[in-house]
Amino acid sequence: MDAASEAAAAVAAPQAEGSPAAAAAPSRYESQKRRDWNTFLQYLRNHKPPLTLARCSGAHVIEFLKYLDQFGKTKVHIAGCPYFGHPNPPAPCACPLKQAWGSLDALIGRLRAAFEENGGRPESNPFATRAVRIYLKEVREGQAKARGIPYEKKKRKRTAVTTSVTSAATVMSTLTGSSPNNTITNGAGSTTGNTTNGAGVSVPSVAATATPNVTATAV
Ligand SMILES: [Zn+2]
Repeated sequence: MDAASEAAAAVAAPQAEGSPAAAAAPSRYESQKRRDWNTFLQYLRNHKPPLTLARCSGAHVIEFLKYLDQFGKTKVHIAGCPYFGHPNPPAPCACPLKQAWGSLDALIGRLRAAFEENGGRPESNPFATRAVRIYLKEVREGQAKARGIPYEKKKRKRTAVTTSVTSAATVMSTLTGSSPNNTITNGAGSTTGNTTNGAGVSVPSVAATATPNVTATAV
């Protein structure tokens, strides 16, 4: 789907998530997309060496995604961890928290659309490059293995570490897993089904209140 029709679709279905607010307000997807785009522009402004949007490549986009990992809330076990492949570890471990694949995938979708809506040409869209697609695929497969994500499509109630991804619209706007029952609907045709993860990609500017190193499996 191209950027224009994607935007149109978003406009046509405002407030899909049950908010009774007036249709005049931008949809959550639209406002989320705007926030994501501003976050990325901010990232470019702070980039060293300086980087302009025009010179931004797929490699830079991947670098951005890796940068976001420090704000992630999804436990991804390293190969040496005894809980590698455990969907439900019985105890905390020291493995890093990262951005869940589903969050990154939805984010890239929004940024890809935003790039073209802001005047970028589709043929030079860094978010649509093969390198980015391959990176996302590797993240998905790596996380599925490390987290032992089952392939059955069963909803489970979980604690903060593995709450379901919130809808694309709320990714990056939610710091706490406040809507744990939403299932991912990012249109990516997830084959892993149960891509549970943290509360989504955090905006760096507000992530100061998050404590990325705390393990939340206290129950
Ligand atoms: Zn671990």
